[in-house]
Amino acid sequence: MVVAIDGPAGSGKSTVTNIIGEKLGFTKVDTGATYRCLALKAIRNNVEKEEDLIELSKNLDIEITEDKKVFLDGQEVTLDIRTNEVSNRASFISNIVDVRKNLVELQRKMSVGKDVILEGRDTTTVVFPNAEIKIYLDATLEERANRRFRQNKELNIEVPYEEVYKSMEARDYNDMHKEFGALTKTENQIYIDTTNMTLEEVVDEITNIIEGEK
Ligand code: C5P
Repeated sequence: MVVAIDGPAGSGKSTVTNIIGEKLGFTKVDTGATYRCLALKAIRNNVEKEEDLIELSKNLDIEITEDKKVFLDGQEVTLDIRTNEVSNRASFISNIVDVRKNLVELQRKMSVGKDVILEGRDTTTVVFPNAEIKIYLDATLEERANRRFRQNKELNIEVPYEEVYKSMEARDYNDMHKEFGALTKTENQIYIDTTNMTLEEVVDEITNIIEGEK
């Protein structure tokens, strides 16, 4: 079974995907991590030109373990792919159509022959348009910025709320205006607005949807 979850930054996709994947024994595929790995490899190898980035995206060796550790070319990069620098580069790189095509192929390979739960921006529309379950997870920009702000605080990362809000707004715009693989709401997705829901309620709702489909 393929469960695909798309949504904007801060909608809770990762957290929800992790909990449900663990609970139901599904393989978790974080598609954003593939863009982040490519960005890290590009930074480390000083690759900047579009054609070189496309070339680099062809043979990426990425492994995501059950406990969410990320390995790139056999080396653990779980934390290295979460820096601001990598986030910014990943956002830029993910606009290149041919890079997306290569990484979509890779994401499909990572999912083949398994019960999977994928999360990203185009998993319901491009990666697995025929997934048994397609979900669009959403929340207002204010709520998502609040969540990220609180998360940062817990991690002792000091970023003013205004800045978190603005950068999330910019990411939303970029995610929704890509030439290929843009974050889109469609009639085939189940839309869940998590603004006023607890994490537990979201997990329960999605679990019920999956169990109902089994
Ligand atoms: O979700 P995350 O923040 O880890 O994604 C990293 C980058 O990859 C973001 O800029 C996001 O827009 C991009 N991305 C994408 N398509 C996906 C998943 C992530 O373009 N399916």
